[in-house]
Amino acid sequence: HLSARDGYAPLNSDFDNFYIRRLQLRINDCFRRPITGVPGRFITLLDRKSDDFNLSFKMTGTTTETLNMSSYNYLGFAQSEGECADAVEAATKKYGVSFASPRGDAGTSELHVEVENLVAKFVGKESAMIFSMGFGTNATTFPALVGKGCLIISDELNHSSIRFGARLSGAVIEMFKHNNINDLERVLRERISQGQPRTHRPWKKILVAVEGLYSMEGTMCNLPEIVALKRKYKFNLFVDEAHSIGALGMQGRGICDYFGIDPAEVDILMGTFTKSFGANGGYVAGDKALVDKLRVTNAGTLFGEAPSPPVLVQISSALRLIIGEIAPGQGQERLERLAFNSRYLRLGLKRLGFIIYGHDDSPIIPLLLYNPAKIPAFSHEMLKRKIAVVVVGYPATPLISSRARFCVSAAHTKDDLDRLLAACDQAGDILQLKFSSGIAGGK
Ligand code: PMP
Repeated sequence: HLSARDGYAPLNSDFDNFYIRRLQLRINDCFRRPITGVPGRFITLLDRKSDDFNLSFKMTGTTTETLNMSSYNYLGFAQSEGECADAVEAATKKYGVSFASPRGDAGTSELHVEVENLVAKFVGKESAMIFSMGFGTNATTFPALVGKGCLIISDELNHSSIRFGARLSGAVIEMFKHNNINDLERVLRERISQGQPRTHRPWKKILVAVEGLYSMEGTMCNLPEIVALKRKYKFNLFVDEAHSIGALGMQGRGICDYFGIDPAEVDILMGTFTKSFGANGGYVAGDKALVDKLRVTNAGTLFGEAPSPPVLVQISSALRLIIGEIAPGQGQERLERLAFNSRYLRLGLKRLGFIIYGHDDSPIIPLLLYNPAKIPAFSHEMLKRKIAVVVVGYPATPLISSRARFCVSAAHTKDDLDRLLAACDQAGDILQLKFSSGIAGGK
């Protein structure tokens, strides 16, 4: 019986109506349908009632199978058959699904040690440490690396987990314009000297944080130039490879592999297992002394549950496939297929006259819809053609750069991508999304 007059506010009182309206608008997109089965090349969605505007679901009992352009399944390891699935099944029988303990207590198994060694070797670092959750990896690692009196310089489009961890650390946070090396140098110049003589650094530690591949833009960080700045300004460098590990580079070893840069140039290589490896969790890799320190100072691993057996075996099997220790040639084939598919789809969309963002080699392809009203419309047109896509708008993007985002996978065939291009061609005409008559030699 408490009311606003008593100064009481229920916990959901500031839940903005804006969000509810936005979700109602998206009634026809694939998000608002729970999925059944594996998020692989295809994804099956449970249908919902067309008059159901509630946030909770009322299912019709029927399903729709769609071509999946929405999951981060870069190398096609999200599947329930094949070498990984067999190993996962066997491991579950042997170890169960939970170690029922944090790493520091009774939760460190032979599987953890094996995965940490494999990851360190794969990314080219002395040591690695794994976590049950990718988000939690960043959220708990930043506070373990830096604190009061330190400076974090962060790309303005860094993932929410980096921002979360950075805030939690208590360090001063300064942002620079997305992927803009001049702006990064401006911040370094202004913040490092702060009017003091060059020999005096007013910060205990300086940490620059970037991502290898940005998941909303499809852009790649300019690692060679950042490394050059690192030499000049002597900061620590943290690179989040959630989307680039397994997806970039001739050997799939991420952004350093892509640019031919020695991993020693980056102090912390962080990544997740939820994208290219079809698993769960995250890692940080670095010098042994640094990782050893993290093992005893990172609250997430000290007090949180250790990664589970099936997840660990999915990771180690996927890694062994990528490096060719299992089924030689298959991993390389997946990497090549992903690289081909990414370029093929990008070129096809450009030829149709769409505006797309990002690097030519990025498997994340944002297609610009601009007008927020076209967000549900595009999703609906795709779903009518049995294609599942992610659509994104404000507040995740600026209001007038709403977009659809395709995630290319090695599991897609050329026919799948042609089917998607044909659907985009039609939807593009219906919704007036084509901004040019296509690049030379186009359709
Ligand atoms: N970092 C980045 C750059 C990400 O994109 C994500 C998730 N999309 C995460 C961290 C968090 O990883 P996870 O989803 O595995 O928790």
